[in-house]
Amino acid sequence: MNHTSDQPGDLGPSAPAEIGPTGRPLPHFPPPGPPSGRPAYVIALCNQKGGVGKTTTTINLGAALAETGRRVLLVDFDPQASMTVGLGFPAHDLDATVYHLLMHDDVEVSDVLLKTRTENLHLLPSSIDLSGAEMHLVHEVGREQTLARMLRPVLNDYDVILIDCQPSLGLLAVNALTACDGVLIPLECEYFALRGVALLKETIEKVRQRTNFDLTIIGLLGTMYDSRTLHSREVLQTLVDGWGDKVFHTVIRRTVKFSDATVAGEPITEFASDSPGAEAYRQLAREVLVRCPGV
Ligand code: ADP
Ligand code: MG
Repeated sequence: MNHTSDQPGDLGPSAPAEIGPTGRPLPHFPPPGPPSGRPAYVIALCNQKGGVGKTTTTINLGAALAETGRRVLLVDFDPQASMTVGLGFPAHDLDATVYHLLMHDDVEVSDVLLKTRTENLHLLPSSIDLSGAEMHLVHEVGREQTLARMLRPVLNDYDVILIDCQPSLGLLAVNALTACDGVLIPLECEYFALRGVALLKETIEKVRQRTNFDLTIIGLLGTMYDSRTLHSREVLQTLVDGWGDKVFHTVIRRTVKFSDATVAGEPITEFASDSPGAEAYRQLAREVLVRCPGV
Protein backbone atom coordinates (compact mmCIF):
# COMPACT_ATOMS: atom_id res chain seq x y z
CA MET A 1 0.00 0.00 0.00
CA ASN A 2 1.40 3.36 -0.95
CA HIS A 3 0.50 6.17 1.46
CA THR A 4 2.67 8.74 -0.18
CA SER A 5 1.63 8.60 -3.80
CA ASP A 6 1.09 11.97 -5.38
CA GLN A 7 0.09 10.71 -8.77
CA PRO A 8 -2.75 12.95 -9.90
CA GLY A 9 -5.91 10.99 -10.50
CA ASP A 10 -5.15 8.03 -8.27
CA LEU A 11 -7.85 9.17 -5.86
CA GLY A 12 -10.27 10.37 -8.51
CA PRO A 13 -14.02 10.30 -7.95
CA SER A 14 -14.39 6.74 -9.20
CA ALA A 15 -11.40 5.31 -7.35
CA PRO A 16 -12.21 3.98 -3.89
CA ALA A 17 -10.40 6.21 -1.39
CA GLU A 18 -7.49 4.48 0.30
CA ILE A 19 -7.85 4.26 4.07
CA GLY A 20 -4.90 5.94 5.76
CA PRO A 21 -3.19 4.96 9.02
CA THR A 22 -5.56 7.19 11.03
CA GLY A 23 -8.52 5.12 9.82
CA ARG A 24 -9.87 7.85 7.54
CA PRO A 25 -9.83 8.03 3.74
CA LEU A 26 -6.47 9.46 2.75
CA PRO A 27 -6.87 12.70 0.77
CA HIS A 28 -4.61 13.62 -2.09
CA PHE A 29 -2.15 16.36 -1.12
CA PRO A 30 -1.19 18.33 -4.19
CA PRO A 31 2.46 19.06 -4.94
CA PRO A 32 3.30 22.47 -3.43
CA GLY A 33 3.08 25.53 -5.63
CA PRO A 34 5.49 28.44 -5.30
CA PRO A 35 5.66 30.33 -1.96
CA SER A 36 3.08 33.08 -1.53
CA GLY A 37 5.64 35.80 -0.85
CA ARG A 38 3.80 36.88 2.31
CA PRO A 39 5.68 37.44 5.58
CA ALA A 40 6.74 34.21 7.25
CA TYR A 41 4.10 31.91 8.68
CA VAL A 42 5.33 30.95 12.15
CA ILE A 43 4.72 27.46 13.53
CA ALA A 44 5.54 26.36 17.09
CA LEU A 45 6.16 22.64 17.61
CA CYS A 46 4.97 22.12 21.11
CA ASN A 47 4.36 19.33 23.60
CA GLN A 48 5.42 19.50 27.24
CA LYS A 49 6.41 15.86 27.06
CA GLY A 50 9.98 15.04 25.98
CA GLY A 51 10.89 12.41 23.41
CA VAL A 52 7.75 12.75 21.29
CA GLY A 53 9.45 13.84 18.08
CA LYS A 54 9.33 17.65 18.34
CA THR A 55 12.96 18.17 17.34
CA THR A 56 12.93 15.43 14.69
CA THR A 57 9.77 16.93 13.20
CA THR A 58 11.09 20.50 13.27
CA ILE A 59 14.28 19.51 11.42
CA ASN A 60 12.63 17.27 8.85
CA LEU A 61 9.48 19.28 8.20
CA GLY A 62 11.79 22.29 7.84
CA ALA A 63 14.00 20.46 5.36
CA ALA A 64 10.98 19.15 3.41
CA LEU A 65 9.55 22.69 3.18
CA ALA A 66 12.97 24.00 2.12
CA GLU A 67 12.96 21.42 -0.70
CA THR A 68 9.83 23.09 -2.08
CA GLY A 69 11.80 26.32 -2.50
CA ARG A 70 10.49 27.95 0.66
CA ARG A 71 12.95 29.92 2.77
CA VAL A 72 12.83 28.29 6.17
CA LEU A 73 14.14 29.51 9.52
CA LEU A 74 14.41 27.00 12.36
CA VAL A 75 14.47 28.38 15.90
CA ASP A 76 15.98 26.13 18.55
CA PHE A 77 14.10 27.21 21.67
CA ASP A 78 15.19 24.34 23.89
CA PRO A 79 18.22 24.70 26.22
CA GLN A 80 19.03 21.06 25.46
CA ALA A 81 19.91 22.28 21.95
CA SER A 82 19.09 18.94 20.30
CA MET A 83 18.14 20.64 17.05
CA THR A 84 21.39 22.62 16.95
CA VAL A 85 23.38 19.43 17.52
CA GLY A 86 21.15 17.43 15.17
CA LEU A 87 22.04 19.83 12.37
CA GLY A 88 25.74 19.34 13.00
CA PHE A 89 26.63 22.42 15.11
CA PRO A 90 28.62 22.38 18.38
CA ALA A 91 26.04 23.85 20.76
CA HIS A 92 28.54 24.10 23.64
CA ASP A 93 30.95 26.11 21.53
CA LEU A 94 28.88 28.81 19.83
CA ASP A 95 29.60 32.52 20.46
CA ALA A 96 26.05 33.68 19.89
CA THR A 97 22.78 31.84 20.36
CA VAL A 98 19.11 32.55 20.75
CA TYR A 99 19.87 33.25 24.41
CA HIS A 100 21.93 36.32 23.47
CA LEU A 101 19.14 37.49 21.19
CA LEU A 102 16.67 37.30 24.07
CA MET A 103 18.95 38.94 26.60
CA HIS A 104 20.58 41.77 24.65
CA ASP A 105 18.73 44.42 22.67
CA ASP A 106 21.79 45.16 20.52
CA VAL A 107 22.15 41.56 19.27
CA GLU A 108 20.35 40.98 15.96
CA VAL A 109 19.14 37.81 14.27
CA SER A 110 21.92 38.12 11.68
CA ASP A 111 24.53 37.98 14.49
CA VAL A 112 23.24 34.57 15.57
CA LEU A 113 22.00 33.01 12.33
CA LEU A 114 23.67 29.85 10.98
CA LYS A 115 23.26 28.45 7.48
CA THR A 116 22.76 24.69 7.53
CA ARG A 117 24.14 22.40 4.83
CA THR A 118 20.63 22.27 3.38
CA GLU A 119 19.72 25.00 0.92
CA ASN A 120 17.06 27.47 2.13
CA LEU A 121 17.36 26.14 5.69
CA HIS A 122 18.69 28.52 8.35
CA LEU A 123 18.99 28.03 12.10
CA LEU A 124 18.92 30.19 15.20
CA PRO A 125 20.91 27.88 17.48
CA SER A 126 20.46 27.31 21.19
CA SER A 127 22.70 26.33 24.05
CA ILE A 128 22.37 25.45 27.70
CA ASP A 129 22.52 29.21 28.54
CA LEU A 130 18.91 29.43 27.44
CA SER A 131 17.87 27.64 30.63
CA GLY A 132 18.77 30.85 32.48
CA ALA A 133 16.68 33.05 30.21
CA GLU A 134 13.35 32.21 31.80
CA MET A 135 14.47 33.66 35.14
CA HIS A 136 15.58 36.93 33.52
CA LEU A 137 12.51 37.24 31.35
CA VAL A 138 10.19 37.10 34.35
CA HIS A 139 11.21 40.67 35.22
CA GLU A 140 10.81 42.06 31.69
CA VAL A 141 7.99 44.24 30.44
CA GLY A 142 6.14 42.25 27.77
CA ARG A 143 7.94 39.09 28.83
CA GLU A 144 5.61 36.81 26.85
CA GLN A 145 6.30 38.76 23.63
CA THR A 146 10.10 38.64 23.71
CA LEU A 147 10.50 35.99 21.00
CA ALA A 148 7.82 37.60 18.81
CA ARG A 149 9.67 40.92 19.05
CA MET A 150 12.94 39.19 18.19
CA LEU A 151 11.54 37.54 15.05
CA ARG A 152 9.63 40.55 13.73
CA PRO A 153 12.59 42.08 11.79
CA VAL A 154 13.12 38.87 9.75
CA LEU A 155 9.52 37.93 8.94
CA ASN A 156 9.98 39.21 5.40
CA ASP A 157 13.17 37.20 4.88
CA TYR A 158 11.45 33.82 5.28
CA ASP A 159 8.36 31.97 4.13
CA VAL A 160 8.14 29.72 7.17
CA ILE A 161 9.61 29.87 10.67
CA LEU A 162 9.52 26.71 12.82
CA ILE A 163 10.11 26.94 16.57
CA ASP A 164 11.29 23.79 18.36
CA CYS A 165 9.99 24.15 21.93
CA GLN A 166 11.44 22.73 25.11
CA PRO A 167 9.42 20.04 26.92
CA SER A 168 7.63 22.30 29.41
CA LEU A 169 4.78 24.77 29.52
CA GLY A 170 6.88 27.52 31.10
CA LEU A 171 7.63 31.03 29.92
CA LEU A 172 9.73 29.92 26.94
CA ALA A 173 6.86 27.82 25.61
CA VAL A 174 4.43 30.69 26.19
CA ASN A 175 6.82 32.95 24.24
CA ALA A 176 6.79 30.45 21.36
CA LEU A 177 2.98 30.19 21.46
CA THR A 178 2.74 33.98 21.49
CA ALA A 179 5.17 34.37 18.57
CA CYS A 180 3.46 31.85 16.27
CA ASP A 181 0.49 31.76 13.92
CA GLY A 182 -0.19 28.08 14.56
CA VAL A 183 0.85 25.18 16.79
CA LEU A 184 1.81 21.71 15.58
CA ILE A 185 1.61 19.06 18.30
CA PRO A 186 3.71 15.94 17.78
CA LEU A 187 2.54 12.96 19.85
CA GLU A 188 4.08 9.57 20.32
CA CYS A 189 1.60 6.81 19.41
CA GLU A 190 1.42 5.53 23.02
CA TYR A 191 -1.50 5.60 25.44
CA PHE A 192 0.18 7.84 27.99
CA ALA A 193 0.90 10.38 25.24
CA LEU A 194 -2.78 11.32 25.19
CA ARG A 195 -2.85 12.38 28.81
CA GLY A 196 -0.84 15.58 28.43
CA VAL A 197 -2.76 16.94 25.48
CA ALA A 198 -5.64 18.33 27.54
CA LEU A 199 -3.23 20.41 29.62
CA LEU A 200 -1.46 21.66 26.51
CA LYS A 201 -4.82 22.61 25.03
CA GLU A 202 -5.61 24.64 28.17
CA THR A 203 -2.32 26.53 27.89
CA ILE A 204 -2.95 27.22 24.20
CA GLU A 205 -6.44 28.49 25.12
CA LYS A 206 -4.99 30.85 27.75
CA VAL A 207 -2.41 32.21 25.31
CA ARG A 208 -5.18 32.72 22.75
CA GLN A 209 -7.19 34.77 25.24
CA ARG A 210 -4.30 36.83 26.57
CA THR A 211 -1.38 37.31 24.19
CA ASN A 212 -2.15 35.82 20.77
CA PHE A 213 -5.80 36.12 19.74
CA ASP A 214 -5.37 34.49 16.32
CA LEU A 215 -3.49 31.43 17.55
CA THR A 216 -4.69 28.20 15.91
CA ILE A 217 -3.87 24.55 16.33
CA ILE A 218 -2.68 23.41 12.91
CA GLY A 219 -2.79 19.77 13.85
CA LEU A 220 -1.73 16.82 15.97
CA LEU A 221 0.88 14.55 14.43
CA GLY A 222 1.23 10.89 15.37
CA THR A 223 4.90 9.95 15.56
CA MET A 224 6.81 6.70 16.21
CA TYR A 225 3.86 4.84 14.75
CA ASP A 226 4.15 1.08 14.41
CA SER A 227 1.53 -0.27 12.02
CA ARG A 228 2.14 -3.83 13.23
CA THR A 229 0.81 -3.12 16.70
CA LEU A 230 -2.86 -2.80 17.52
CA HIS A 231 -1.74 -0.42 20.24
CA SER A 232 -0.44 2.22 17.81
CA ARG A 233 -3.59 2.00 15.71
CA GLU A 234 -5.83 2.31 18.78
CA VAL A 235 -3.99 5.40 19.99
CA LEU A 236 -4.49 7.05 16.60
CA GLN A 237 -8.17 6.05 16.66
CA THR A 238 -8.62 7.60 20.13
CA LEU A 239 -6.90 10.74 18.91
CA VAL A 240 -9.21 10.99 15.90
CA ASP A 241 -12.26 10.33 18.12
CA GLY A 242 -11.30 13.30 20.31
CA TRP A 243 -9.78 15.70 17.82
CA GLY A 244 -11.34 14.82 14.44
CA ASP A 245 -9.80 16.60 11.51
CA LYS A 246 -7.18 18.28 13.69
CA VAL A 247 -5.27 14.98 13.48
CA PHE A 248 -2.90 14.95 10.53
CA HIS A 249 -3.55 12.20 7.99
CA THR A 250 0.21 11.87 7.76
CA VAL A 251 1.78 9.79 10.51
CA ILE A 252 5.49 9.25 11.11
CA ARG A 253 6.50 5.63 11.51
CA ARG A 254 9.08 4.38 13.94
CA THR A 255 12.44 3.83 12.27
CA VAL A 256 16.06 3.93 13.41
CA LYS A 257 16.90 6.05 10.36
CA PHE A 258 15.97 9.14 12.40
CA SER A 259 18.63 8.56 15.05
CA ASP A 260 21.14 7.71 12.32
CA ALA A 261 20.38 11.00 10.57
CA THR A 262 20.84 12.89 13.86
CA VAL A 263 24.25 11.33 14.33
CA ALA A 264 25.13 12.39 10.79
CA GLY A 265 23.92 15.94 11.59
CA GLU A 266 21.53 15.97 8.63
CA PRO A 267 17.80 15.98 7.93
CA ILE A 268 16.52 12.57 6.84
CA THR A 269 15.49 14.12 3.52
CA GLU A 270 19.22 14.37 2.77
CA PHE A 271 20.66 11.53 4.82
CA ALA A 272 18.28 8.95 3.36
CA SER A 273 16.43 10.90 0.71
CA ASP A 274 14.46 7.95 -0.68
CA SER A 275 13.54 6.40 2.67
CA PRO A 276 9.92 6.11 3.84
CA GLY A 277 10.78 8.51 6.70
CA ALA A 278 11.90 11.20 4.26
CA GLU A 279 8.76 10.64 2.16
CA ALA A 280 6.57 10.89 5.27
CA TYR A 281 7.98 14.31 6.10
CA ARG A 282 7.53 15.43 2.49
CA GLN A 283 3.89 14.38 2.73
CA LEU A 284 3.60 16.22 6.07
CA ALA A 285 5.00 19.35 4.36
CA ARG A 286 2.28 19.05 1.69
CA GLU A 287 -0.40 18.54 4.32
CA VAL A 288 0.84 21.53 6.34
CA LEU A 289 0.71 23.67 3.18
CA VAL A 290 -2.90 22.59 2.58
CA ARG A 291 -3.79 23.48 6.18
CA CYS A 292 -1.95 26.79 6.17
CA PRO A 293 -2.93 28.43 2.88
CA GLY A 294 -0.74 31.31 1.86
CA VAL A 295 2.53 29.86 3.12
P1 ADP B 1 11.56 15.66 21.44
O1 ADP B 1 12.17 16.82 20.71
O2 ADP B 1 10.07 15.74 21.51
O3 ADP B 1 12.18 15.45 22.78
P2 ADP B 1 13.00 14.02 19.55
O4 ADP B 1 12.62 14.48 18.20
O5 ADP B 1 14.32 14.49 20.08
O6 ADP B 1 11.84 14.34 20.59
O7 ADP B 1 12.96 12.43 19.54
C1 ADP B 1 13.35 11.67 20.68
C2 ADP B 1 14.18 10.47 20.23
O8 ADP B 1 13.40 9.63 19.40
C3 ADP B 1 15.39 10.87 19.41
O9 ADP B 1 16.44 10.00 19.74
C4 ADP B 1 14.96 10.64 17.97
O10 ADP B 1 16.03 10.31 17.13
C5 ADP B 1 13.99 9.49 18.12
N1 ADP B 1 12.91 9.54 17.14
C6 ADP B 1 12.17 10.61 16.76
N2 ADP B 1 11.24 10.29 15.84
C7 ADP B 1 11.39 8.95 15.64
C8 ADP B 1 10.72 7.99 14.79
N3 ADP B 1 9.71 8.33 13.98
N4 ADP B 1 11.15 6.71 14.85
C9 ADP B 1 12.16 6.36 15.67
N5 ADP B 1 12.83 7.18 16.45
C10 ADP B 1 12.46 8.48 16.46
MG1 MG C 1 13.51 18.26 21.43
